[in-house]
Amino acid sequence: MNYNIETINGLAQQLAEIFKVAVMERQKAGTGTPLIAEIENGMREALRQIGKQALGMFLSSMQATPDSEIDCPCGGELHYQRMRTAKVISVFGRVTYERAYYAGCGCQQGQAPLDEQFGLEPGAVTAGLAALLGLAGIEFSYDQSPKWLQAYLLFDVSENTVRSETEQMGALQAQQEEELIQHTQDEVVLQERQRHPGSVPPRLYGSMDAAKVRIQPRIKQGQEAEEHEDWRDMKVLCWFETETVPLAQRSKRQRQKVQREQIPLRAKNMRYFCDITEAENFGKLLWATGCTVNADLSPELIFLGDGAVWIWNLVAKYYPNAIQIVDWYHAEEYLEDLAVAAFPDLSERTAWLEGLTQTLWDGQVEQVISACKALAPSGGEARKAVTYFYNNAERMRYDQFRAAGYMIGSGTVESGCKQIVTHRLKLPGAQWTVTGAVQTAKARAAWLSGQWQTLCDQRSALPLAI
Ligand SMILES: [Zn+2]
Repeated sequence: MNYNIETINGLAQQLAEIFKVAVMERQKAGTGTPLIAEIENGMREALRQIGKQALGMFLSSMQATPDSEIDCPCGGELHYQRMRTAKVISVFGRVTYERAYYAGCGCQQGQAPLDEQFGLEPGAVTAGLAALLGLAGIEFSYDQSPKWLQAYLLFDVSENTVRSETEQMGALQAQQEEELIQHTQDEVVLQERQRHPGSVPPRLYGSMDAAKVRIQPRIKQGQEAEEHEDWRDMKVLCWFETETVPLAQRSKRQRQKVQREQIPLRAKNMRYFCDITEAENFGKLLWATGCTVNADLSPELIFLGDGAVWIWNLVAKYYPNAIQIVDWYHAEEYLEDLAVAAFPDLSERTAWLEGLTQTLWDGQVEQVISACKALAPSGGEARKAVTYFYNNAERMRYDQFRAAGYMIGSGTVESGCKQIVTHRLKLPGAQWTVTGAVQTAKARAAWLSGQWQTLCDQRSALPLAI
């Protein structure tokens, strides 16, 4: 927005003068000079008051002389009643303004055209504040958010307001995903996309994982708990591309990778999506979001995951030509667990494990299976490993994957799971309903995917209830 900088400079000068007078009076009274923090906070509070008043004055001043009749959205006619005061909660706190109010239509609905014009809902939070409340809500637990927000905004916002604004962001994301799902099931739309696909990534990765969320509905006072505590899977999906980590930025672990003839890669352009839902439903989200990154059109589509069957079933269903890779670290862990169970003697264990890890690294899965089979009589751990390596053999051709320069670790989606689920949904004091957990997670996933502004724009353009 453009405004006259000279007028602003004049206002700044006036504010400086006000503070100078106040400080000099204090010095004269012999109560000392305030330190910079006190001046800063004083100015912030003054600026907030200015903003609060200016926003209200601005809105009132935008009210033109009211027409006596206007069209009602129902097709009828609304009659001017009177000027009416309205309040909204803005980034400066509560703002009061006056605008023309219309009523008297047969449909019984009243209207204030100025509210419509600026997307204001009397009594509610403005879109500008909603964006900030949502940001706090995706980062901090709802009971901690008001404390943080008070420090930044300088006024109190309730826990419930933060919760409902954050969840609304998630609901918008959910709605956007639902529309995308409908859209990408339409044959005509899909054919049109094939003709004009836009940019197609030459090599694209998809990765899925799941993390447990504790569902424990809040119990209202005087009510019996109807539902018991329950653990549900939050499924997380990540689309991403990779780039080589520059030499100077390589970590110790990445330098070790180079010694093992692997190119250190890192993920970029990550797009996270999540839901608590059955695999079949999650598949629709997989397909729909895949269309936005042209996953099906990418000449090289690679899926990374652990051994979970639902993941590979979805990949086979929606992307039958994709290259499937079981996360290296999960595969390695199977060998480690087995070694611990099978070899009480440490040197024997180390020898076995080192040899077999190298065999696995070289993609010789059949040899790994034989070695595990040789241990099978010794217990369930070995039989479990045999099944795991047998079922995933084609997804463990690590020699070929490395030769092609593929990423073989699913760290990107696991880190997404941690950031979405562990770092937010598992904060102390968190009590979730399924809807609350899903909406908060979706809002957080949008933020982590660099899509927060899109949600804020949507929130800003919401059609308001009349
Ligand atoms: Zn009407």
